[in-house]
Amino acid sequence: MRPIIGVTFKKDVVDNHLNNYTKAIEQSGGEPAVLFPDGATVDIAEMNGLLLTGGGDIHPDFFGKKWHPALKFVDKARDELEIQLCRQALEADIPVFGICRGIQVMSVATGGNLYQDIPSEYPQKAGCHTQVGRVDSRHDIFIKPDSLLNQITGESVAEVNSAHHQAVNKKGAGFVATARTADNIIEAMEHPSKRFVLGVQYHPERMINSKDPEFRQHGLNLFEAFINAASC
Ligand code: MN
Repeated sequence: MRPIIGVTFKKDVVDNHLNNYTKAIEQSGGEPAVLFPDGATVDIAEMNGLLLTGGGDIHPDFFGKKWHPALKFVDKARDELEIQLCRQALEADIPVFGICRGIQVMSVATGGNLYQDIPSEYPQKAGCHTQVGRVDSRHDIFIKPDSLLNQITGESVAEVNSAHHQAVNKKGAGFVATARTADNIIEAMEHPSKRFVLGVQYHPERMINSKDPEFRQHGLNLFEAFINAASC
């Protein structure tokens, strides 16, 4: 039986970003169940895995900071739904894969916090993250040996895409950072005491559509590992 993967997304779908996620799940053998912040009750026990997708910024009320003027596309209903689902999935040890905003939700859901705007808040010179726009930039990440990400990809250095102006600052309880950029931004985070809980700051659902074979393989490996974990 194909594992059911809950896929959280914003309520008003106006672009093809959702399709990238659902296609990636289907390609790897999963069955996506899209979860919108529309007030409907969601029972995490009906899911075999949870995919927290990319999107707008998380409201700073959820991590005890003041509103930053650079915040964009904030949706408190979505924040609430994803934080609640993430906590429930962790509690039940259901596999969770977080992408971009998703890694940030994981951190906030477990007591961590964020840099709300890298260009204005990051204490070091963020050389890898100065360009932020609609077009993905690229940078290398340095992956911790023996981490889940290292085991899945077989890589210790990988080039990935980058399209974010926020990043995890304080990690949530139980998480370890397992990949960083040269400017030390957290690009991957894992929860070693759970079966499969992995967040990445980049976009593997877009990497699998790339012409670059290494990009494509890195993205495919991540989705396959997640769906495999959700199948157990
Ligand atoms: Mn990045």
